[in-house]
Amino acid sequence: MPSKNLRTSLRLPLPLKARALLFFSACALAACGAWARVGQVQSDANSTRERRVGTSVSNRNENAVGANSGAANPETMGRGVTETNSPMAFGQPRAALFFTALEQAMRSRGMRVEDACPREDAVASRILREYGAIFMATQSVRVPPVCMFTSEVEVARFQTDAQPVSAIVGGTRIELQRAAMDALVAAREDAARQGLTITPRGGSEAARRSFQDTVRLWNSRFFPALEYWRGRGRLSAEEVNHLRALPIHDQVAGVLRLEDRGIFFSRDFSKSILYSVAAPGASQHISMLALDVAEFGNARVRRILAAHGWFQTVKSDMPHFTFLGLNESELPSRGLRQVTVDGQLFWIPNVANE
Ligand SMILES: [Zn+2]
Repeated sequence: MPSKNLRTSLRLPLPLKARALLFFSACALAACGAWARVGQVQSDANSTRERRVGTSVSNRNENAVGANSGAANPETMGRGVTETNSPMAFGQPRAALFFTALEQAMRSRGMRVEDACPREDAVASRILREYGAIFMATQSVRVPPVCMFTSEVEVARFQTDAQPVSAIVGGTRIELQRAAMDALVAAREDAARQGLTITPRGGSEAARRSFQDTVRLWNSRFFPALEYWRGRGRLSAEEVNHLRALPIHDQVAGVLRLEDRGIFFSRDFSKSILYSVAAPGASQHISMLALDVAEFGNARVRRILAAHGWFQTVKSDMPHFTFLGLNESELPSRGLRQVTVDGQLFWIPNVANE
């Protein structure tokens, strides 16, 4: 158990180090813990998806999904948020803390958390907490080498290496990593047997996005919000000009600091921009492991997608699904916990107690 290196690399504050040590000790004493399970899951990573996803529907927590909520505007819907501890049946993997599971998941890919997403970088840290579930995906897909790409060149290199496949889905050409596309096709076949459809929402951008796409989407929230808050006297013209001129990473940091003061940059200025669009270069769509689904309001569609390894992992982004390629029962051991927002179940990084 490389706890010294782990604690050093995570740069945990002292009380957290103590907590982490307690966790490891308890784990060793009980000879069971999440680490052993994670290791087992990792070594199983290339076993058949059919076996791993086959029981997902029956395992799903039924109180987490409601009746069809309809395709209301995801940004203006009221928020009924329920945070829950994951129900663990006997024999299921134990829950892990996100950063513990992340360290293990990255190590199994030859990555290091401190290289990909330095925790002392407030932007990277926040991005991990909001979008980090993607790093838990099955080994059969590529995850991004960083939390936040900073150029088109970098994104293009990653996307080429990931060898995406393209297909016409619901009349729209989309591109995804192969395992994600295969799972989507299988989910659509299941849906069709039930008289349902699963289609991209908003054209080709529902799946693969370029770096520039993510910059444009960011600006579609960033610029109107600057004008809104300037008009209300919360930002001066100088502050607006300063923010606009910043390099992207610093711009994101500046926006997040303003949001800490209640100056929000989502489309309706009521919540964080990160629940509305991703920070530039940080979108899961860049990884070609995300799909915005038109039928997101249909609980049966969501259950079918989950049964094929597609989960909602970005809290409050209602149409957005992430391909993890895992059985839902494995997610707690991957450092994810469930939260329900307006009847939709999200699996988000389990960072509440870290
Ligand atoms: Zn999306």
